[in-house]
Amino acid sequence: MKYKRLRGTQDVVPPDITLWRHVEGVFQDTFDRYGYSVIRTPIIEPTDLFVRAVGEGSDIVTKEMYTFEDRGGRSVTLRPENTASVIRAYLENGLHRRGGVQRLCYTGPMFRYDRPQAGRYRQFHQVGAEAIGSDNPAVDVEMMMLVVEAMRRLGFEGLDLRLNSVGGESSRGPYREVLYDAIRSSSELPGELVERYEGNPMRIFDAKDVDTAFKQKLPLISDHLDAEDAAHFAQVQDLLAGTNIDFTADPYLVRGLDYYTRTVFEVYCGDTGAQSALCGGGRYDALVAECGGPDTPAIGFSAGVERMVAALPSTDVGGVAVLAYVVCESQGASAGALRAASALRALGAVETDLSLRSHKKQIQAGEKSGARFLVIAPTQGGTLEVRDLKRREEFAVAEGELPGRVEERLGD
Ligand code: AMP
Repeated sequence: MKYKRLRGTQDVVPPDITLWRHVEGVFQDTFDRYGYSVIRTPIIEPTDLFVRAVGEGSDIVTKEMYTFEDRGGRSVTLRPENTASVIRAYLENGLHRRGGVQRLCYTGPMFRYDRPQAGRYRQFHQVGAEAIGSDNPAVDVEMMMLVVEAMRRLGFEGLDLRLNSVGGESSRGPYREVLYDAIRSSSELPGELVERYEGNPMRIFDAKDVDTAFKQKLPLISDHLDAEDAAHFAQVQDLLAGTNIDFTADPYLVRGLDYYTRTVFEVYCGDTGAQSALCGGGRYDALVAECGGPDTPAIGFSAGVERMVAALPSTDVGGVAVLAYVVCESQGASAGALRAASALRALGAVETDLSLRSHKKQIQAGEKSGARFLVIAPTQGGTLEVRDLKRREEFAVAEGELPGRVEERLGD
């Protein structure tokens, strides 16, 4: 083998791709039902966009970005997440002038130069959505309803929705000082670890190399929310309690991206470990303004397609149903085979066997394909032979009558 894929990247080959299409399809259908429109943004963006939005000191920006100079000497980055790009596009295309709440959804690859391990890749894929233009707690709850509904439709049971509020800047500013003081005044952490949390001490709750026991002694944001942030969080919980969604308020939940304000949430399923949130999201009420737009509150989420595919409770998701498999035994039969297949494609998916392998092998492959009908194209012109594999019947048919004869058998 001359070439291998890069570490941390994956090929998705048949039949696994069926599961990917299923996950993405169920999310897309759920987005449609909630009134979300698809937005597509470039995979490559100016580096500054992510540095500003995701946060200068965040793990993503300091360690994980695929950043390089393009030929014009500009620093560009493969997107590590999509919210920053969506907000840039929202402003650049004047969507903020449309009023109301803009609901946008996406699916696509993201890139983070992380240490590859189970459920963690360097190129991974997210489905996600953003609702831009309201700070109504009902928008937060509607977004969580969307996520949970899509995941339930995928067959996930016993979902664990964890919820917290990280507060707005008015709560977080003073809290950060209290928290950093507590970290600094403890003798338990080595100096270089203490320094790491100077800029954004809340990241300590996300740190893998800090003991849970230590984290539990630290002051919590939930005790430092100002009246407005506390009221917002209370309303989110009240509204959620009125749905059929179970949730747990988790005062230790913080997220690795700096733009989050107020509501943050993650969804886990079953006995998944700390690494394996299937989905994460939250409010980012200051990001639109930070990107140069008007003061506009917003909330979003994204879910890892790889992780959902790996965790799917059932892999029996069906694929494309093959209507017919056209057998073509010789070059002379090719034209007839192409015409027959083309006519049947008005009714469904048709596979042609143009390998010119033996009759027996083609028939076997046709039977394995899951097709309802085997159609054998004649070498010398004349009638086609059709086998209805469901009814176990055979009949001969003139070319012009093929679609009609097949169609009358459908629906049973
Ligand atoms: P984040 O953008 O970090 O909030 O991640 C949102 C979701 O994307 C996570 O819950 C995961 O399902 C998925 N995800 C994040 N990073 C990776 C990765 N390196 N590999 C695979 N999935 C990831």
